[in-house]
Amino acid sequence: MSEKTVGVTLVGAAGRMGLEIVRAVAARPDVRLIGAVERAGCDHIGADAGRLAGAGDAGVAISSDIEAAADGADVVVDFGPPEATLGAIRAAEGAGAALLVGTTGLDARDAEAIDRAARRIAVLSASNLSVGIAVMHDILRRAVSSLGEGFDVEIVEMHHRGKADAPSGTALDLARTAADARGWDAGESIATARAGVRGAREIGVLGARGGGVFGEHTAILASDHERLEITHRAASRTLFAQGAVRAASFLAGKPAGRYTMMDVLGLD
Ligand code: NAD
Repeated sequence: MSEKTVGVTLVGAAGRMGLEIVRAVAARPDVRLIGAVERAGCDHIGADAGRLAGAGDAGVAISSDIEAAADGADVVVDFGPPEATLGAIRAAEGAGAALLVGTTGLDARDAEAIDRAARRIAVLSASNLSVGIAVMHDILRRAVSSLGEGFDVEIVEMHHRGKADAPSGTALDLARTAADARGWDAGESIATARAGVRGAREIGVLGARGGGVFGEHTAILASDHERLEITHRAASRTLFAQGAVRAASFLAGKPAGRYTMMDVLGLD
């Protein structure tokens, strides 16, 4: 492989995000798919990952053997279900590759395994890989600390009717950013339900569900006299795939440790 090309092994290659990532990789000359993994028994085992995604022949057959698929990879990119994440972590460590985890709904055991892996390899795990959301965190942090406690902060989100969890992990992350910027303990200052509750000010996180909305997040900063709103709207899944490929390219060859999308964008 050429020195400038980042080799990616993708876990969950036939999934909704997997197909988007294969297309996003195909669109970049500096990144190349070298392995594609699916669950054993998946109908697409043996199929060419690029052709399945409508991105032309990638020369990579989808396999259920993650160790073999990760061999020689610069970055293992995980967009499988949470049950597959431990395997992706082990495969990345075994191959000495960096690890990008996009999978959400991870449990404490996965989180510990990710922390342990970061002592040996470069790791980025984020429930939202949108570059716009990364910038929104940065803007929100600065807005909260500049405006001060005279401004209440609320996070409002809306997603399609099929989204299982509410409020979204991204909305909770934004609330944590606001709490940190205010110097509040996130564990005690974020309220996800407020019916009948009155008292000390907290950061409310409200989720609406309906239609086919890919994902909208608004941070509201309101004083008695003015209101600032910072909004991000996702138009498709493509933005997550593009962010993932940008993050994978950033992680390749980095020293062991935990990285964030803020690092990818040079915001930290
Ligand atoms: P999906 O169900 O469409 O795809 C998951 C794929 O993983 C399926 O093709 C499935 O067959 C495959 N799979 C199952 N077991 C496997 C195994 N053991 N090894 C390899 N592959 C296996 O789901 P999706 O919509 O593509 O989402 C995948 C994950 O990405 C979810 O956790 C979702 O929440 C998350 N996600 C993250 C971001 C982000 O920005 N971080 C954005 C969108 C989605």
